[in-house]
Order: sequence, then structure tokens, then C-alpha cells
Amino acid sequence: MSGRAAIAHLKLSVPKAVVEIARKLEDAGFETWCVGGAVRDALLGLRRADWDLATAARPDRVRRLFRRTYPIGVEFGTVGVRGGDGVVYEVTSFRRDMATDGRRAVIEYADTIEEDLARRDFTINAIAYHPLRHELKDPFGGLRDLERRVLRAVGHPLTRFEEDYLRILRGLRFAGRFDMTIEPGTWTALRERVPRLVRLSGERVREELLKVVADPQPSRALNLYRGASALLVVYPEIQVPDEEWERLVAAVDAARRSRPFLRIVMLFTAVSSLDALEEMMRRLRFSNAESDRALTLKAAHAVDLPDPSDARAVRRWLGRVGTEAVRDTVRLHAASVRGRGGDIAAFARVARAALTTLRQRPPLTLAELAIDGDDLKEFGLQPGPQFAEILKDCLERVIDDPGMNTRERLLQYVSERWTGPRG
Ligand code: ATP
Ligand code: MG
Repeated sequence: MSGRAAIAHLKLSVPKAVVEIARKLEDAGFETWCVGGAVRDALLGLRRADWDLATAARPDRVRRLFRRTYPIGVEFGTVGVRGGDGVVYEVTSFRRDMATDGRRAVIEYADTIEEDLARRDFTINAIAYHPLRHELKDPFGGLRDLERRVLRAVGHPLTRFEEDYLRILRGLRFAGRFDMTIEPGTWTALRERVPRLVRLSGERVREELLKVVADPQPSRALNLYRGASALLVVYPEIQVPDEEWERLVAAVDAARRSRPFLRIVMLFTAVSSLDALEEMMRRLRFSNAESDRALTLKAAHAVDLPDPSDARAVRRWLGRVGTEAVRDTVRLHAASVRGRGGDIAAFARVARAALTTLRQRPPLTLAELAIDGDDLKEFGLQPGPQFAEILKDCLERVIDDPGMNTRERLLQYVSERWTGPRG
């Protein structure tokens, strides 16, 4: 390992339970360090709960040393150890990278923390902290890059991206999250390998997207996706002209962070068609339920908003959006309005009218209609495809005038409209 390794002394606030786990491993003779995102975030002054440890002990030793362990990813050297605080921490044996196919890094065990840090993707993620000696191991200058807000690959950037193309998306995400500049050599290599992103599995792309939208301000990473042309490769279905893009990502930011899926749907409202969206959800390995929800919401979001003073129009809108989807659709519209700097007060009137009407539970679906096919049969009509048409027509009438929703009035209407002189 390089002799330039910067070693700083500074005290990070590591949870006591993590220190205890490290002490037990060290007492048994195994060097143990805090690594990864928690160290990085602590150096940035951000708090987080998921402290990861890297240790010279192999998984079988780790499992024997602690009473409560969980085989989180033993094949990758990770054992979950339950700390004194009840939290399960990931303890991973030192590893080094092996040859890969760019889709997933293949690993083997290593003996030193230096080797373990060298396999990590970016300098800011390759800093280790010794929780007993309060020592920082930073062989790649990650601390300096953190201070200067520079995202830099560990080692030769092109090689590192070729080992695992996911690192391209991770890089864009970290640069967005921490508002970093991507170091020129890293940026050039990243851009050059963007076309290879097609080789990533849908699952990994989806998981990255979920992490992007978990950020307070996903627009920054999404702008980088677009700027690096990664958007075009991983989400070719999203084709938005520049002037709409800004609004779109502003709307993603404006959707609540606590509802990550809605943020994704917001982004996917820009997909050209429902068919394209369905295909995309399948490719990204979203569940059928998630796919259905995204399709429903995209369609609902596309329905023109009603004039809030027109009660019929409001009911018609509710009927077309569907009771189940109303609240999320309102949330999506609110985010779009904020994203384009639109008139929030005007939208709030629409939302209020819609939600107030929804609470009054006006009949909006065929199931809520006072008559069904049996009633039409009893009424003397011949069952057939026309039944559906008649019932839909009745529903329209009822949405226009909820007072119509009685058996008598509807059958009266059917006799006039459907069986009268023409029937
Ligand atoms: P987050 O805040 O998103 O969890 P993180 O840095 O903790 O960020 P993880 O995906 O949890 O990211 O990974 C933990 C650490 O493992 C990273 O900090 C990095 O050192 C290393 N790592 C993870 N994925 C890769 C990868 N694909 N290539 C190289 N190193 C990686
Ligand atoms: Mg993490």
C-alpha cells in the first residue's frame, strides 16, 4: 500500500455497541475498523445508525465470537452481529477485488485494511476509522476530497468502472447527494463507460434509483444522470426536452421524501406511454403491485384537473381517477405545481374540493350503482354486451347527479333512454 497514507487523529462519535464489537474482535487478535458510508458521513458531520465494520477475522471466527449473529451475506464475508443496543451491525471480513465481468465485483478475503480500502469505489468511501485508537486510515486522500467536495475513483477510474458498472450510477448518486464535482479523470472514464450500463441488471438499477429518491434533493443526482447520458441508457423511456426536464426534477424534489415510490412515479410521469411504463417497470423488476400502482397513478395524473367550483366536474374527475388513487394523485399534482412554480393556492382549492367530495362518498363506481345486470334482466331486458353500456351510462348520470342513484329513478331513466321508442 502507498506510503503516503494520510493518518489523522480525530474522534468520531461511534455508537458504544460498535466500539464493544470492535473491542471483542481486537481482543481476540483481529484488527477491526469502521468503514464505508458511516465514516464518510460522520466526517461530514452527518449522523447515521448503520455503522459497518471491517475485520481481519473470517466469518466463521466472527460467528463463533459473538452470541447473536446473522448470516447476512456470509458468501461475501458479511456477518450481522447484534450489538448491546439491539441493532444488528454488519461485520465484514477484509476483502480484495478479483477479476469481474462488470456486472458484479467478485471478491476474496484479504489480510489488511489497506487492501480492503483499495477495492472500494471512491476515495470518500475508502476511509477507515479505528474506533478504539481513534485513528483514521485514509490512503487515497478521501478526507481532502470530502473537504473539497470532489468525487474521485480509487485507483484507475476506467478499470474501476469496468470491474463494476454500478459504480457509475453510485458515483452520480454520491456526487449529487454531497453536491460534489466529479474529478476530471473520473468523469471522463465514467462518461466513456456509460453505454455499458445496459449490462446492469434491472434490480441493481432500481435499487440505485430508490437510493437516489431517498435523498433530500434527488434532482442533483438526476441532473448528473442526464448530464452523463446515463439517463438515456438506463431509462430510455424518459424522453423530456430540456425545458421540461427542470420542472420534472423539481417536481421529484417537491414530492415528499417519506414517499419514495411517489417520487419515482413523478419521474416516470415523463415516460411516453403507459405501455412503455409497464415494460419499464417489468425490466426494473418492480413487483406487479408496484407496476399497477405506477400505471394507475400515471394515468390518473394525466386527467385534467376540474374547476373546483363545479361539483359535477369534481365528481367526474374523482370517477376517472378512481377512489383509491385520489390522495396520491393529489400529492403528485401538488408536487408538479410546486416544481413548476405554479399557483399553489389555486391548486389547494382543487385539492380541497376533491377531498371534501371524496369524504361525502358520492357513488363513483359501477359497484356503487343502485342497479346491476340482474335488475336490468328483471326489468325485462335481454342480457348481452349492451348491459355494460347501459350501466356505464347510468353511472355517468349518477356522477352528474348523485340523487339519481335509486333503483326507481335509474330504471325509469333506462326505460326512457334505452327502451323507449328506439328500444
Ligand atoms: P449509503 O449511504 O448509500 O448507504 P454507503 O457508502 O454506505 O452509502 P453502501 O452501498 O452501503 O454505500 O456500501 C458500503 C461501502 O462499501 C461503500 O462506502 C464502499 O466503500 C463499498 N462499496 C459498496 N458498493 C461498492 C461497489 N459497487 N464497488 C466498490 N465499493 C463498494
Ligand atoms: Mg450503506
